[in-house]
Amino acid sequence: MNIHEYQAKEILNGYDVPVPRGRVAVTADQVERKAKMLGGRCVVKAQIYAGGRGKAGGVQVAYHPEQAHEIAKEMFGKRLVTPQTGPEGLKVRRILVEETVEVGREYYLSIALDRQSSRYCLIGSAAGGVNIEEVAASSPEKIHKLLIDPYTGLRSYQARKLAHALGLEGGVAEDCVQLILNLYRCCLDKDCSLIEINPLVVTKAGWLLALDAKINFDDNALFRHWEYHEMQDYSQMEPLEISAAKFDLAYIKLDGNIGCMVNGAGLAMATLDVLKEKGGEPANFLDVGGGATREKVAEAFRIILQDSDVKAVFVNIFGGIMRCDVIAQGIIEAASDSHCDLPIVVRMDGSQVAEGKALLEQSGLNVQCADFLGDGAEKIVTMLQQAATDAAQGQERG
Ligand code: GDP
Ligand code: MN
Repeated sequence: MNIHEYQAKEILNGYDVPVPRGRVAVTADQVERKAKMLGGRCVVKAQIYAGGRGKAGGVQVAYHPEQAHEIAKEMFGKRLVTPQTGPEGLKVRRILVEETVEVGREYYLSIALDRQSSRYCLIGSAAGGVNIEEVAASSPEKIHKLLIDPYTGLRSYQARKLAHALGLEGGVAEDCVQLILNLYRCCLDKDCSLIEINPLVVTKAGWLLALDAKINFDDNALFRHWEYHEMQDYSQMEPLEISAAKFDLAYIKLDGNIGCMVNGAGLAMATLDVLKEKGGEPANFLDVGGGATREKVAEAFRIILQDSDVKAVFVNIFGGIMRCDVIAQGIIEAASDSHCDLPIVVRMDGSQVAEGKALLEQSGLNVQCADFLGDGAEKIVTMLQQAATDAAQGQERG
């Protein structure tokens, strides 16, 4: 789970990590007022669920409150496109107004979950700032990494080793050690999968300061933190992923045109693989889970149909806990409600499969049943091609 920079900074501030003074605003007038409170000169920062804002014009310095107002007015109306947002970008609805800081030097510092070792990894670089991705690609030796043993936890000598690798010395190095230990404490308490400070700066006056902050929470730990629920900014998320989450369905948008409804993550991945092998392009990954009900199947199917990229639907379900006739009823209910005439292939197996198939065949939908995964994938690709040819011929005939 993602949160905004200003929220991440609030959390870090609670762990004695120094951050610039700042306030969040939702209108240009508010931005102007907050700029005045900060003495006029300020940084205006677009709050979106993505990084790379600096290079995309999402971080700008204003020299007086009226200018902050101007910048904010421009930003609020815009969808900010950065290398992390995809081509549509993300709409700016909140702006963080912060005091400006005289930057001496920029560093990169993060603690991230390393999947390979299943440990937290402390990462730092003296080449921090907006070009960190390029640094990581072209000069990986400038990125220092240290795995944290979950049994002993992060030790101060390890934090000191990293501070020295960044070239810090004396008092600033000790401040950095403390800051790193605080970050680690925050990681554990808050179940973060990532805390990233880029840039961490040493100001011209010689103070350490987190100029930017990004926190991701581990989704698997959300049940332990009810307070996170209201921190979420739904305007920054894919709408269909939000409705799916409400029904406890795992839905991920992909960029093809075949909607896929599957039960179980392993089966979902196998389905996408086989579909691609047969020349199909999945539009999403939707896992209805093990014991889905008729309502849940219907909701899942509706979510798939709401995606305008979907031109065909492939259902691949093993009816172990779920009965195939119940699955069929869910599909028929949702497809009829939405007047769906898209090609559908249903590959299912398990209890009550004959009854399920019979229901589908009598439903009047544009549906075919399949017995095997490969066979089903081939069928949906063929039906999709056929539909495209028919549409083209229809257009020619005018
Ligand atoms: P990102 O591009 O989304 O990661 O946004 P950041 O918050 O990191 O801002 C981009 C860049 O703006 C930073 O790397 C800094 O170089 C610069 N920046 C942000 N705030 C200030 C500030 O108060 N003073 C100065 N001099 N630079 C700033
Ligand atoms: Mn940054």
